[in-house]
Amino acid sequence: MTEPVKYVLDESRLPKSWYNLMADLPSPPPPVLHPATKKPVGPDDLAPLFPTALILQEVSTEREIEIPEPVREVYRQWRPTPLFRARRLEKALGTPARIYYKYEGVSPVGSHKPNTAVAQAFYNREAGVKKLTTETGAGQWGSALAMAGAFFGLEVKVFMVRVSYNQKPYRRALMESFGAKCVPSPSPETNSGRAIWEKNPEHPGSLGIAISEAVEVAATNDDTKYSLGSVLNHVLMHQTVLGQEAMAQMEMAGDWPDIVVGCTGGGSNFAGLAFPFIGAQLRGGKKVRVIAVEPAACPSLTRGKYAYDYGDTAHLTPLVKMHTLGSTFVPPPFHAGGLRYHGMAPLVSHCQELGLIESRAYTQTEVFAAGLQFARAEGIVPAPEANHAVKGAIDEALRCKLEGTARTILFNLCGHGHFDMQAYMDYFAGRLTDQRYDEKELAMALAGLPSVPA
Ligand SMILES: *Cc1c(COP(=O)(O)O)cnc(C)c1O
Repeated sequence: MTEPVKYVLDESRLPKSWYNLMADLPSPPPPVLHPATKKPVGPDDLAPLFPTALILQEVSTEREIEIPEPVREVYRQWRPTPLFRARRLEKALGTPARIYYKYEGVSPVGSHKPNTAVAQAFYNREAGVKKLTTETGAGQWGSALAMAGAFFGLEVKVFMVRVSYNQKPYRRALMESFGAKCVPSPSPETNSGRAIWEKNPEHPGSLGIAISEAVEVAATNDDTKYSLGSVLNHVLMHQTVLGQEAMAQMEMAGDWPDIVVGCTGGGSNFAGLAFPFIGAQLRGGKKVRVIAVEPAACPSLTRGKYAYDYGDTAHLTPLVKMHTLGSTFVPPPFHAGGLRYHGMAPLVSHCQELGLIESRAYTQTEVFAAGLQFARAEGIVPAPEANHAVKGAIDEALRCKLEGTARTILFNLCGHGHFDMQAYMDYFAGRLTDQRYDEKELAMALAGLPSVPA
């Protein structure tokens, strides 16, 4: 009898609540500070940017937060997502390891991002908001929010990092298909964008700059709020539907991961898969090794400093303690646009400080090689970001082979690469090189970190 390769949960098993890791951590992360007073921020400070419901989730220490029925209704279109056992990949690698992957590419826009986009659009609509602004790197977040905006009747304006705007025209078309407006960033439309755009209209942009532009528009318009696709506590929490589903699916498989792997840009897909497992471990369950994989060209967890920093380039956001490369750091224009962020989610950073997770960095060409090995075995072409997780999982599987141990590895295949085929074409043509970040620029960005009273 052949064993199953796919573990599918019935619609009735869709999680009823999001999981909040704050409830189980041995110590809370350091407080978020006001950029001017450097005192802990209160809900009023965040009110111009976010609806109250999301601000309350941001500071909540409740273990479970109920998912509103209208959000679950949308989730049901593609959730629960499948969990696969990568049997052909295991065979190709000749590893005794069992490799599983949670596949988020089945969402309408092809990534995990709608898990939070739908929730955020819902709460904004409930609060009477008319327009949302946001930033996007590769365009996955922008297209997820554009779709969610269409579902809940909100106008969406997306500042898209210019290098990706040029590299990925189909993502832009996707956002526009959902009725959103997409602007290359830095743009002349905002004070923060114009300052940079005037010096260099072809500036490649960065997520830090695009965030400044989107925040500025929301802060200066009463009917407009801002929406972030990663980093914040509530965003990570919305993604925990995928880890909770994966737990039920691992049980179906009669297995449990020894190792959990995810790629990290701002940390949300990684946290979405890993936090429920970390929480179970903290409550006395089985110990899991959790590995965050990031690009060597933008290595916040492995090379950044754990310090208070701004979330954006123009310093409009609150100060959060995180692993950061400095808010002025502009990473080289590599293809995994979703991972080009100078900082890391405060909760993920805190987990690394507590020794609950480890991190490693890989170069662009080695992750594409891993992604293609996966594609040829499993038939799914991963998003360039997801290739980092694939590479992390393959390396662990090869280590099992070397050591002769049959460990269970679970990774998050957070999106497919169908809108990123130009990146693959560049790889085949040998045009994809391993661009190093500029050490001097990193040193300067780190030297410019804000000073915060102890
Ligand atoms: C946005 C994105 C990422 C990076 O963001 P995280 O918040 O770290 O998950 C990674 N993979 C895909 C497919 C994305 O769309």
